Amino acid sequence: MEIISGLYLSQDLLDVVLSHCKNAYPFEACGILAGKNDIVSVVYEMDNIERSSVSYVMDSMEQLHVMKKIRNEGMRMIAIYHSHPQSSAYPSPEDIRLAFYDEVAYVIVSLIDYDKPDIRTFRISEGKVSEITMKTDGC
Ligand SMILES: [Zn+2]
Repeated sequence: MEIISGLYLSQDLLDVVLSHCKNAYPFEACGILAGKNDIVSVVYEMDNIERSSVSYVMDSMEQLHVMKKIRNEGMRMIAIYHSHPQSSAYPSPEDIRLAFYDEVAYVIVSLIDYDKPDIRTFRISEGKVSEITMKTDGC
């Protein structure tokens, strides 16, 4: 099993993620970051079919379609991102319970301060949360 220690996301792509999260406000936004190795090259903005400010659920058909596209292009799912409109950038008990992918990073964007989002990245494995680094420069 590949263990990821960190991921690389360019400032441009981070801006895409942040505007998606802000546009979805006051609901949670969710999406998938794909690329090669640990370098993100594509952001897939997904629909939060729950339209909730405390949880997200991706549309399973949309998710299957995106994951197939990622595979077909020789990429992998590097991370799943979602926003926390009203809480801090740390996985909720539900986020931990529903983290099925050991090899995928979980990026959480807190919009408690809407103008100054807090972004943190985690690996969640068997209920254990560890913070990892996200680099936004040099890629
Ligand atoms: Zn969450």
